[in-house]
Amino acid sequence: MGSKPNVLFGLPPGWDALSKALFGNPDFTSFLEGKDHYAPAQIDYFVGFRPAHGFLKTLPRLKAIFSLGAGVDGFLRDPEFPRHVPVVRFIDETLQREMAQYVVMHVLIIHRQQRAFDAAQAQGLWKQRMLARPTREVRVGILGMGDIGAVTAERLLMFDFQVLGWSRTRKTVPGVTSYAGPGELGAFLGQCDIMVCLLPLTPETEGILNASLFAQLPKGAWVMNVGRGGHCNEADLLAALDSDHLAGAVMDVFQKEPLPPDSPIWKHPKITVTPHIAGITDPRNAAAFVADCVKRAESGQPFLNRVDVAKGY
Ligand code: NDP
Repeated sequence: MGSKPNVLFGLPPGWDALSKALFGNPDFTSFLEGKDHYAPAQIDYFVGFRPAHGFLKTLPRLKAIFSLGAGVDGFLRDPEFPRHVPVVRFIDETLQREMAQYVVMHVLIIHRQQRAFDAAQAQGLWKQRMLARPTREVRVGILGMGDIGAVTAERLLMFDFQVLGWSRTRKTVPGVTSYAGPGELGAFLGQCDIMVCLLPLTPETEGILNASLFAQLPKGAWVMNVGRGGHCNEADLLAALDSDHLAGAVMDVFQKEPLPPDSPIWKHPKITVTPHIAGITDPRNAAAFVADCVKRAESGQPFLNRVDVAKGY
């Protein structure tokens, strides 16, 4: 190991395209966890998404951690996480737009009742249906009005949906009705025809999508979870769907990933499942992010998008 900083990449399976783009930066020496030999005591920076619990504490010289995802629960939920080490998260316009695109696509599928047309086509049935109500009367509520929530709201407004958002602090996003804090959660939920979870997973938000929350949504509402699996009590969701209180759900994230083959979620007629693909990390942007983070750290400049470890996001 030379005088250049040493960067260890802990990439989850399937992120091969990322490793090709990330490596080869002449400003630092790269090591791939599980493949290259390295001395733990000489690693300066760690780049990854969900390292094994207890792993980061084995890197005593760590100066900063760079998260390849917008959410950092994969780091902070490690009980032995070295809390003194700065964590910087990947905030990327492409990722935000892809997330917004996923939400808009599913909101439109719900609103235009596309699943019913798919079912009719499968039976060769010409079955015309009217829209339940015009778009401007459909209320989409975003739980978590952060970077991704704001872009998503903007895109939904382009299609004439009514948009409301809930966050810890009040927002002034043009065209969006803002609700803030636990005291206003009930008022927010009562207005959601389609509720989209875009929260970070923290001790405060874990399990927030539960029976009590579902009961506060109007009858016939839809739930979309694109935050984290830990937000949702899946048994409560299934019960709310089976009792017909909820009309349907779109789930990109699950308590256990990959979703186990025997999970009733797979075949539930009211649930659309996708395998945690709502936001796709672009390898080139990720490589630029890591290069910028290392450069800032080495030149003593403050990081952009540093996570507040105490808040958990
Ligand atoms: P941000 O940190 O920018 O935004 C988080 C938002 O949640 C903020 O508006 C924040 O409120 C709000 N919030 C946090 N805690 C609470 C709370 N206790 N009560 C009320 N509101 C709260 O995150 P991003 O928008 O960048 O990302 C959001 C999440 O999306 C990620 O953490 C990740 O879990 C998920 N994600 C999922 C992906 C996928 O592929 N499915 C891909 C990328 C991200 P305030 O603004 O007031 O602080």
